[in-house]
Amino acid sequence: MKCLKCKTRMNEKRSNFEEGIPYSYWSCPNCQEEIVDMRQLHSVAEKYRKLKQYSATVSQWGDSIAIRIPQKLAAQYHLKPKKTVSLIPEKKKH
Ligand SMILES: [Zn+2]
Repeated sequence: MKCLKCKTRMNEKRSNFEEGIPYSYWSCPNCQEEIVDMRQLHSVAEKYRKLKQYSATVSQWGDSIAIRIPQKLAAQYHLKPKKTVSLIPEKKKH
């Protein structure tokens, strides 16, 4: 990979996002230009999704089914007991 600005050969470097997800980028030793390889962004986004995923326990509650929402997620969405929420099903994956 050559620098787009000065055509110097760039060095591949590795770094981590906050959550510890590694990614690599190119750095120019001459002008300090940095380029992130866009091809890896998809896989990084996928890893993010998995990290941010929460699981909920479904349990029987009288005639209804109840889902227990983790406290962290409830706080994030400002969910409080007795609050009415709308449920929108995700599209089924084929
Ligand atoms: Zn450069």
